[in-house]
Formats: sequence, C-alpha cells, structure tokens
Amino acid sequence: MYGDVQSSDIVDGGTVKTRTTWNTTSIDVPRCSDCKAVHTRNRKAGFGLLVSALGIGLGLIILVFGVIRALTQGDGLFAVLAVAISLVLLSASAALYWASRRRALRDHAERIALGIEAQTYQEQYPKIQALLAGGWKIGDKSTG
Ligand SMILES: [Zn+2]
Repeated sequence: MYGDVQSSDIVDGGTVKTRTTWNTTSIDVPRCSDCKAVHTRNRKAGFGLLVSALGIGLGLIILVFGVIRALTQGDGLFAVLAVAISLVLLSASAALYWASRRRALRDHAERIALGIEAQTYQEQYPKIQALLAGGWKIGDKSTG
C-alpha cells in the first residue's frame, strides 16, 4: 500500500518539474491453510482463462493473416499452413478455456460451500481498513 503522496514543484535549470513522493507499507493478512489453498486454486483457474484468451486471440490473428495473404498474394501453401496452425491453436485454447471455466465454477462453488471469502476480502482486514480510511491506497505506486 502507499500513501502520504505529496507533490511539489521544483525548478531545475529553468524548467519547473513536479516532484512526487510517497510512502509505502505492506500489511500481512493472516489466513489459514484451507483458505490459502482455495485462493491458490482460484488463481490457477483465472490464469488458465487468461492464457486461453491469449491463445484464441493469437489463433485468430494467424488465421486472418493467412487468409489475407492467400487472397492478396495467391500464396496457397502459406494459407494452408496458417489455417492448420491456427486451428490447432484455437482448439487447444478452446479446450483450455472450457477446462479453466469448469474449474473456476467448481472452485467458486467450493469456496462458497466452505464459507471462505474471496481473496479481495483481505481489504476488510482492520489494519488495511485503517490505512484506507487515512487516504492510503492498495498497490505499490510503481509509476506516477
Ligand atoms: Zn481460513
């Protein structure tokens, strides 16, 4: 978390620059091993969904690229290769998507059944609430 953000203008060789400073801190939110295991599984399913989305996007780009090249340059072999590669990529990504989606739904149902809060619930931790109330923000403010 970061807070105490302060901006001040400083003159550096005739130009005015804004200098921003802030403080950071990290809060450890305790959780039991059951909750940790459920949160880890939830994250894995989310990662699978992300990878499958990237795979589908890449597969579509290769497919369109191959078809355009076949139409504009009459490059039939290239188009066949591009379509073949994209179909393999798209089917693998679709399989990963459905597996990850099933997994995410199952993990969600498990989390609810066990009465375990989502990981975002960590923001309700009193020490974090106190910092948020004091104007602090979640994150490390690595930019800006
Ligand atoms: Zn727990």
